[in-house]
Amino acid sequence: MTKWMTKDILSIHKALVEKEVTPSELVEECIERIGKDQCNSFEATRFDEARKEAKKITEIGEDEVLKGIPYLAKDNYSTKGTETSASSKILTGYVPTFDATVVKKLKRAGMIQVAHTTMDELAMGGTGTTGRKGDTTNPYDKERIVGGSSCGSAAALAQGIAPMALGSDTGDSVRKPASLAGLVGYKATWGRISRFGLFPFAPSLDAVGFFTRDVLSAAYVLTALSGHDKNDMSSSYRKKEKYEKYVLEGKRLKRVGYFKAVMDSIKDPIIKDAYSKLLEELRKKGYEVLPYDYPIELLDALYPTYMIISCAEAGSNDANLDGVRFGPAATNNPKTYKEYMIDCRSKGFSDLIKRRFVIGSFSLLAENQPEMFNRAQKARRLIVDAMNRFFDSFDYLIVPSAYSIPKKIKDLSTAWSTHPDYLDNILTLGNFGGYPSVTVPLTFDQGMPIGVNVTGRIFEDGYVLSMGKEIEDITGLKNLVAGKENK
Ligand code: GLN
Repeated sequence: MTKWMTKDILSIHKALVEKEVTPSELVEECIERIGKDQCNSFEATRFDEARKEAKKITEIGEDEVLKGIPYLAKDNYSTKGTETSASSKILTGYVPTFDATVVKKLKRAGMIQVAHTTMDELAMGGTGTTGRKGDTTNPYDKERIVGGSSCGSAAALAQGIAPMALGSDTGDSVRKPASLAGLVGYKATWGRISRFGLFPFAPSLDAVGFFTRDVLSAAYVLTALSGHDKNDMSSSYRKKEKYEKYVLEGKRLKRVGYFKAVMDSIKDPIIKDAYSKLLEELRKKGYEVLPYDYPIELLDALYPTYMIISCAEAGSNDANLDGVRFGPAATNNPKTYKEYMIDCRSKGFSDLIKRRFVIGSFSLLAENQPEMFNRAQKARRLIVDAMNRFFDSFDYLIVPSAYSIPKKIKDLSTAWSTHPDYLDNILTLGNFGGYPSVTVPLTFDQGMPIGVNVTGRIFEDGYVLSMGKEIEDITGLKNLVAGKENK
């Protein structure tokens, strides 16, 4: 098997310009690798369309870095003519009549979408086990989860199936699986990239994100995707930038902070050691690296605040999934709209989704709203204010993206944790404040990759990516692929 799909975007681009390989050959390699997927990474495929798009590309200029390169999209990015189900039974058979803005922009840049990837149903969840097609597994150990909700995108990239995959990030859904799969996972500043055509989960938190094999690739993709879109009122008018310049020119800020409480709570010696060593290396390179006392009660508030806000928004957004507009029809001979909807929604959603809708609706009931939803909104304000104070004295927050290697699927529990660990929820900080945030590989623990995350001030995406590159240079971990058979 040829091996272009295991490389980073710039290397593939150079080969295309040199005519060492053609877009059609790249698409064929991607299709062949999809056929060998071991982890249940795929929903719909669009092989014929991809082949046609590849054939049309004849010339590739030196500055057309994305042109002719295959990519994958999480199954919640509307793609004209391709079933887009968000891995939910209730959207089975839904074929959008338009492209999401990011899909359109990637097409305009010449990238070729080859398939949709599995996800936790409707992007809720973090295990990769709740989609309509069952468990998506970790290529480094197929008994373990790859994390979610962007599970298929992470599993596919870690198997060397494509050099880029779209994900979406509401709490950590790109940055957590990236960590568990040895990839770069990036979430843009809220409003930097249009979300038109991305199925909403919790729009005050949702951001476009993507997986790549190295940081520079992520910067090129961001440059292509950023900018205002008249179809998304929340997309920013702020000037577009060439984000790859930050990475290529090493444009970085100096002050790195870490949370003392988080450092003290890490039990895994390998992760603690790798994290401490990384901070030490950064110090040696001239960064100011200092601890910070982020309020413990706000760290404790992350999980409940996230659950209330995200479930409330999800319940309201997904109210349109009533079985009438999309998805399979009711099968119980309903007499009323209510009976019809109850039948479709009872059969169309998994337990996790139903549980979250109940929480969302409960917190929005008029009599509960002051105590639940309004309090969560206030807690969010305190969380973000405290983060902005942190950013008065620091340019970056660096945290490990996980406490341990991923769980085995058989050990997963549906019980909700009453004492969640800080690191299980810390990445939600990035969504509460809309901050740009990137996960890059940090180390290996028992053969499983572990990532580290960098978060910065809003619209400092370039500086955040550039710090990601600094860490990539320190660890030397990039272009990772699991399993000898995939290399
Ligand atoms: N794991 C988080 C959740 O379950 C994040 C989901 C996401 O970012 N889409 O909601």
